[in-house]
Amino acid sequence: MPIKKLYGGIEAGGTKFVCVVAGGPDHIVDEIRFRTTAPAETLGRAIQFFQPFVAQGQVSAIGVGAFGPLDLNPESSTYGCITATPKPGWSNANVLGTLQQALQTSIVLDTDVNVAGLGEYKWGASKGYDPSLYLTIGTGIGGGYIKDGKALIGLLNPEMGHLRIPHNRELDPFPGNCPFHGDCFEGLANGPAIEKRLGVAGAVVPEEDPFWDIEADYIASALMNYILILSPKKIILGGGVMQREFLFPKIRRRVRKLLNGYVSSKSILENIEKYILPPGLGNQSGSLGAIALAMQMDEGDSDPRI
Ligand SMILES: [Zn+2]
Repeated sequence: MPIKKLYGGIEAGGTKFVCVVAGGPDHIVDEIRFRTTAPAETLGRAIQFFQPFVAQGQVSAIGVGAFGPLDLNPESSTYGCITATPKPGWSNANVLGTLQQALQTSIVLDTDVNVAGLGEYKWGASKGYDPSLYLTIGTGIGGGYIKDGKALIGLLNPEMGHLRIPHNRELDPFPGNCPFHGDCFEGLANGPAIEKRLGVAGAVVPEEDPFWDIEADYIASALMNYILILSPKKIILGGGVMQREFLFPKIRRRVRKLLNGYVSSKSILENIEKYILPPGLGNQSGSLGAIALAMQMDEGDSDPRI
């Protein structure tokens, strides 16, 4: 049996880090999960995990999908750093530089959503569907758009969570909690907005609560915009809020109603339950996506984002 090449993957999340050494989803050699604490300690644990693999030449490259905002401009002096994050201690943390200096191997960094989108495209629910969209709806809301096998990046990374969507203040007087825009999509529909509005975490709000119809309306409004602008062939919805699976049929119904037959694709008109989907890789979209990113770089694409 030929020896499969191995890669490193880091899902660098705001609450936890997942580090894996793998050749793909069916070949995971080692994995570690730990809480995100101070940058030096957290990156130190990741370095410690990968060091033996790197020392023995077992991993060809390491991919990192990190929470942001991130500076991903290779010409910038703060390239590879987390920029202005509300997460204590992490503003200006040099994620890429710290890992590269300690491990002395090829490391590639992208946003957590771009990387999860790539993982789903390579091995998950959007496998082979190009273009496709991955959206996370949790503590934050963000999206990764995969086109021609790569995550789209333009002037900066797209910020899909901060879309403006209709907000009926009579139905939902909550003013929104985005520090920049108030009632943008993220400000209305992320996990903290649900908790602030209802006084309890979304995870324990009963399925019958009428609020879920409002939440599904917000998500469907945003999806309508993405469908009209980006025309993805699959939409994957991940993140903590989407753990409440009953939201999927509500959202699909509303998307179809909002589009009102205008987008004449069978995927939407007849098979929407196969068009808007939960992640196929479950909670591993991020860590396996980081493996996919490392593979992409190793296959000769020095900067897979561009
Ligand atoms: Zn916003």
